[in-house]
Amino acid sequence: MRSDGKAVARRSDDSDTRFERVSRQLRERILSGAFPQGGRLSEVRLAKEYGLSRGPIREALRRLEQERLVMSVPNRGTFVVRVTQTQVLEALELRAVLEPFAYLGTRDRREDVLAVQLMSVLNTIRARLAEGDYAALAGLHGRFHAVLYRESGNRTLIRMWEEIESVVELHVLSRLRSLEDGHELLAHHEELARTLVESGVEQGHAAIIEHLAECGRGLKMMFIDPGQIVSDVARRDVAALRHDR
Ligand SMILES: [Zn+2]
Repeated sequence: MRSDGKAVARRSDDSDTRFERVSRQLRERILSGAFPQGGRLSEVRLAKEYGLSRGPIREALRRLEQERLVMSVPNRGTFVVRVTQTQVLEALELRAVLEPFAYLGTRDRREDVLAVQLMSVLNTIRARLAEGDYAALAGLHGRFHAVLYRESGNRTLIRMWEEIESVVELHVLSRLRSLEDGHELLAHHEELARTLVESGVEQGHAAIIEHLAECGRGLKMMFIDPGQIVSDVARRDVAALRHDR
């Protein structure tokens, strides 16, 4: 009986998730740069390549459009989105406010959950780097930061992250040019995870702010200082948290 149940579950999985499998693979190909930004994705060609009808391909592309990785242009087709510097800057400014706040939310939950989730992403990053696949880190880096939003338990915050996630991932992709870049990204995030998990709330909070400030410096946009943007908000949040406890 048990194996029958499993077989049924597998069959329905197959039909349900064919487009999910395709959308996952297309997402990976976009985030690995195999499909370049601004490039056109032909439904017909993809259907042929995956040996599927155009239905699941169209559905997969629609999913990716919701994730803002592709955009469809009437009468022209579907294209991989091109991320502008303004979008990258806006996403970073927003993260500078949201992410330290999300982190404070995670501290109200069980700390070991945060640790397990962050370590799991870091392990996947290590595995991919061991295979020489540094481009995979664009998506995995997004997954690392997504943990903070998800574990904050604040659904509005999670939706706001989803709004900017593809911009962050495509931007990181454009900056990953070698295995060495990948190892550098890993080292930064290992250190960040250690601080978030092992240190007190104020150090963890400061580490997130510094991480984002460093992204800002990386952008060479000296006219913004994400650390400064959040410092007032941050101080208030930490004070409020202390007051609550
Ligand atoms: Zn990061």
